[in-house]
Amino acid sequence: MSKYETIVVGGGAMGLSVAYNLLRRGRNVHVLEGDYLNAGSTGRNLGVLKARNPYAVGNGNKDLVKLAKEGLKLNAGLSSETGINTFHKTSGCLILAKDEADYKQLKEYHTHFKKLGLDERELTPEEIHRKWSYMDPDSVIAGFYSPSEANAHPFGVVWAYVEAIRKMKCQVEKQNKVSKIEKTSDGFKITAEKGEYEAENVVVACAERSSELTEQLGYKIPLTPMRKEVLISEPIRPFFGPTLERLSTHFQVTQTMRGEIMGTIDWMEPGYDLVKSTSEFLEHFADELVPIIPVLRNLNIIRQWTGICDQTPDEKPAVGKLDDGLYVTCGYNDYGITMVPIVGRLLASTIINDETSPMLKPFDPLRFE
Ligand SMILES: Cc1cc2nc3c(=O)[nH]c(=O)nc-3n(C[C@H](O)[C@H](O)[C@H](O)COP(=O)(O)OP(=O)(O)OC[C@H]3O[C@@H](n4cnc5c(N)ncnc54)[C@H](O)[C@@H]3O)c2cc1C
Repeated sequence: MSKYETIVVGGGAMGLSVAYNLLRRGRNVHVLEGDYLNAGSTGRNLGVLKARNPYAVGNGNKDLVKLAKEGLKLNAGLSSETGINTFHKTSGCLILAKDEADYKQLKEYHTHFKKLGLDERELTPEEIHRKWSYMDPDSVIAGFYSPSEANAHPFGVVWAYVEAIRKMKCQVEKQNKVSKIEKTSDGFKITAEKGEYEAENVVVACAERSSELTEQLGYKIPLTPMRKEVLISEPIRPFFGPTLERLSTHFQVTQTMRGEIMGTIDWMEPGYDLVKSTSEFLEHFADELVPIIPVLRNLNIIRQWTGICDQTPDEKPAVGKLDDGLYVTCGYNDYGITMVPIVGRLLASTIINDETSPMLKPFDPLRFE
């Protein structure tokens, strides 16, 4: 039976970041991924990197923002740190108010985010039009802009970690799904499709599937698999400034470095079916986008897909120690790529020091017991 200090189950960006950070600190690590790389939500997301996390407001949002701020910073340095291009770009993000209800909510968030030291500024429709002339000023009543928010290519983030892990002589085993984790006298026995393994520590990083494994050891993490649709267009001339968002409709649109327009709107009902995609999504997206950027009215959409966001009841992640040697990191909803570099670093420290990093304390995975 192969033996390791730490086995990371789940080779999405989160598991890879934990493995990378443990390896950098001289630990012996092995990653078991049940599918192909990018099979999970990492391979299906928009790559928008934001400090202005809009979740858990009034219930610890400041802790999420703290983590997101650090994540944003570390994402910016990931290409130079690993030598692999993550296609990071500080393009900014503009959150739009299209009606009075949007405006009232964004004003409240503005006061809150300013108190947390975020660089958000309010823009009038005319100021928006002056900065980005492709936007119709009559379609919005205000915008809240942060120039320091950014984008990265999620595949680039995965390649960066996988390549750095490979250079440190560790393996990411693909197509090797873990079915069982058992506690032994000196660690854990892990049963996967291609064999059995022993480890002193196990990190479960399986997003919405995490609880299927942790429950075997008595730790249930309530996770709802919230599905989200995404579309992408043919590549067009790069013209886009910041990512655009409208919080009330969960609308987000950005332009990739290849020139494709990529976006999302609404939530689907919870579920695991990734094959379903709807025409309602396409229509609602067009209805939201075209009045804001009329020049996109004849855009050809070439692909639609669906991804799963792992949501906890309090909208905060579940990360940290469950038991001696057993760790979990999941529940990152639709903001996990931002968090990946900082959480990997902090969880690696938590494992090595056997003491929860202060920034992770608010996200104790045992809080649902
Ligand atoms: C549509 C969509 C848009 C999003 N947009 C953004 C965005 O713009 N910005 C942002 O910051 N975040 C965004 N997110 C969230 C982000 O994608 C995730 O939070 C982040 O990628 C989480 O990574 P992860 O490694 O935890 O999960 P995943 O990438 O899902 O990785 C989990 C891995 O575990 C593997 N696995 C599961 N069970 C087992 C098992 N039993 N054995 C072995 N392996 C197993 C899976 O195959 C998978 O590869 C979005 C998510 C979605 C779905």
